[in-house]
Amino acid sequence: MEKLQYVRPLQGTDSTFEFSNGNTLPLTCRPFGMASWTPQTTRDGERWIFHPSHRRFYGLRLTHQPSPWIGDYGHLTLMPTTGPLRVSPLRASSSFDPADLVTTPGYLRVDLLGAQTQLELAPTERGATLRLTYREREQPRLVLSPFAGEASVTIDAEHRQLRGYTRADSGSTPEDFAEYFVIEFGCAIDPDSSGVFGADYQPRSELTATGERQGAYVGLTLPESGVVEARIGTSFIGIEQAERNLRAEVKSFEQTRTEAENAWESRLSLIDVESTDEQDLRTFYTCLYRAFLFPHTWHEYDESGRQVHYSPAAGGVHEGPMFCDVGFWDVFRTSLPLYSLLIPDEFGEMIEGWVNFYRESGALPRWLSPGERYTMPGTLIDVVIADAYLKGIRNFDVETAYRALLTHSDGTVRPGMQDYLEFGYLPHDRHGESVNNTLDFLYGDFCIARMARERGDAETYERLTDRARNYALLFDPGLRLMRGRTADGRRQEPFDPLQWGDPFCEGGAWQCSWAVPYDVRGLARLMGGPDALVEQLDRLFAMPAVFRIGSYDFEIHEMSEMAAGGLGQFAISNQPSFHIPFLYAALGRPDRTQYWVRRTLEHAFSAEPDGLPGDEDNGSTAAWYLWGALGLYPLCPGVPEYVLGSPLFPRATVHLPGGRDLVIEAPGNGPDAVYWQQVERAGSAWDRLSIPHADLARGGTLRFHMSKEPACRTYAEDQLPYSLT
Ligand code: CA
Repeated sequence: MEKLQYVRPLQGTDSTFEFSNGNTLPLTCRPFGMASWTPQTTRDGERWIFHPSHRRFYGLRLTHQPSPWIGDYGHLTLMPTTGPLRVSPLRASSSFDPADLVTTPGYLRVDLLGAQTQLELAPTERGATLRLTYREREQPRLVLSPFAGEASVTIDAEHRQLRGYTRADSGSTPEDFAEYFVIEFGCAIDPDSSGVFGADYQPRSELTATGERQGAYVGLTLPESGVVEARIGTSFIGIEQAERNLRAEVKSFEQTRTEAENAWESRLSLIDVESTDEQDLRTFYTCLYRAFLFPHTWHEYDESGRQVHYSPAAGGVHEGPMFCDVGFWDVFRTSLPLYSLLIPDEFGEMIEGWVNFYRESGALPRWLSPGERYTMPGTLIDVVIADAYLKGIRNFDVETAYRALLTHSDGTVRPGMQDYLEFGYLPHDRHGESVNNTLDFLYGDFCIARMARERGDAETYERLTDRARNYALLFDPGLRLMRGRTADGRRQEPFDPLQWGDPFCEGGAWQCSWAVPYDVRGLARLMGGPDALVEQLDRLFAMPAVFRIGSYDFEIHEMSEMAAGGLGQFAISNQPSFHIPFLYAALGRPDRTQYWVRRTLEHAFSAEPDGLPGDEDNGSTAAWYLWGALGLYPLCPGVPEYVLGSPLFPRATVHLPGGRDLVIEAPGNGPDAVYWQQVERAGSAWDRLSIPHADLARGGTLRFHMSKEPACRTYAEDQLPYSLT
C-alpha cells in the first residue's frame, strides 16, 4: 500500500476541551463511510472519546460524531471481556499499551492486557468485521453498551446473532430515529453465560430487553484456536436492512481488510506527490485521508438495489442519496472545492442528497448531524451549489436546487431576513454575530446571482449582485475593519477591534473583516486602494495574537489556539482566517501569499497527534493543507478559479476524472525557495495570478519556477483573480 503507509490517524487527537490540536478521532472506516470506528479511552465516552496518552480501553466505539462540539448519535461500544462477568464501563475496561495500538484507515488492532484478548477490526461502509483472539479462555464474552436513550437487544443463540437498536442521539432527529445493528458470531453463543443489563449495569439472565440504555453480554463458545470473527451490519432504516447491509458488505476478516485498504489506497492515489521528506509525505496523505472522512454516506440499498435513506429531517424511508455530518460554514471553503476537481460526480451526488434534505424538510441544510443543528453563521450551501453548477457539475436536480436557493435570497429562511433586506445588513443591536451573518448572507447572494446569470435570470442576477456590495455598510474606513452597526445606523459603541464575539463569530474584527472573497478590490477601494489593504494585512500578521474575551463567557479554545499559533492575528486554527494569506495574491502581491502559506504549511501542520491547528472540522483544515501544498487555493468558491500559491513539493500529479493528469512542477523548490519567479502552463508563460477551473480540469502541466527571492513585478487588473469591482 504505497500511499496508505503514510497515513497517521492519530494526527490531531491530542486535544482537550480547552485546546484543539485538531480535535480529531483516529477513525477506521471506509471513505465517506456510514459507520466509523475508534478506540474509546475515556470512561463516560461523552464527546472527548479518545486521547493518545491514555492507557485504558473502554471499548470499540461505533461513532458518527463529526466533532466533539456536535456530539455523537447512533453510537455504542463493543468490549471483549474474560473472567468473572463485569459489564459496567470501568469494570469491563482493560489497559493497553498505546505503543502497540495499530490504528490505520482500513485496519485497527488493540491488545487488551487485562482481558488477554486481541481485538482487530476491518471496516465496511455500514459495518465491520471483528476478529477477537482470546488468549485467556475463561468466560470469553463480548459486551455491547449503548448510550443514553432507548435501546433494544436480543441474543439469538440459534442464529448466533446479537440484534437490536439504539435511539441514542444528539437531539436533532425525528422520534422514530434509531441505529439498528446485527452482529453475527463465527462461533456458538452460550446462552447460559449471556444476558442483558440496564443503565444500572446489573446483569440479568434474560436474552432480550428493551428500555433505557439496555445492553447485552454475549457468552462465546470458542473454537480451539480462541479466534472468533464477528460480522457487523448497521442501518438507520431497520433490522432487516442492517442484516441486508451485513450480507452485502461484510466478508471474512482478511477479505474485508483487503477491500478496506484498497478503497483507501485508491482515494489516496488520486494525488501523487514526490518528496524525499517522509514527514511531508505523512502530513499530506494523512490530510488526504481526513478529506475523505466527511460527509458520511447516509443512504443504503434496498432489496432491489435502490438507493434509499432514512430521512434525518422527516423520518421514514425516502428514495435517493443522503449525506450527513457536515457543516457548510466549514467545508464550503476547501474540501468541497477539492471534490469539485477530484471527484465531481460524487460531489454532485452529495448535492442531490442535500436537495433531498430540502425536499424532506423545506430548507436546505446548514449543519447536518444527522438532522439540522442550526449552528454557525450564514447559509453557505449557497456557495456550494453555485460553485458546483458553475464548474459544470449538473448531476443533481438543478431546478429544485435553484428554487431552494431563492428561498435564501428572497424568502424568510435566513434568520433576520426582513432586517437584512430593510437595512442592507443585520443590525447588531437586534441580531447576534451580525457582521459574520451579514457578510455570509451577502456572499451567498453573490453566488446565487452568479448561478442566476448562468441560467439567464438577469433580474435576479442584477438585484443580488447589487445587494452583494452592501458589505460596505459595515466597513469602518477609519479602522479599516468591519464593525457592528445599529438599526439607526450608528456604528457599534464601544468598539474594541481585539474583542471577540458580539457581532463576530469565533473571532474579532481582525479575523472576521475579510469575508468578502468575491470583491477583494472593492474592499481595498474602501481603504484607499490595494496598497492600503496590503498594509492592513501586513499589520494583521505582525500584530501580537492578543484577544479580549468579549461576549464569550470565558477564553474559548479558538482564542487559545490563535495565541499559540505564532502567526499574529492570522488564526489558521479557525475557518474565517483560512483565505487571509491568499488575499495578497488577489491584490497583486503573490510574494506575500507565497511566504505566509509556506510558513503556515511548515509550522502549523504535521502528521503527529498535535499536528493540526485548531479543530480540523470535517476535512476543512486538512483540505487547506492539501490546497496549500499543491500551490493553489479556491479563494472564492462560486467563482470557478484557483489562486496561485507556492507548491510544497517539487512535483505533484493530480489524477483527474477521465484519465487526465494535472502535473504541478516546482523546479528549484526547497524550504528556503518558497517564491516563484514565473509560472508556465503547457510550456507558455502564465501571467495571471489565478487559473480557471475548466483550464485546470483539462490536466496538463503547471510549472512554478522557484527561487529564494521574491519576484519583482507588478500585475495589471486583468491578471488578478476575480473581483466584483
Ligand atoms: Ca472551527
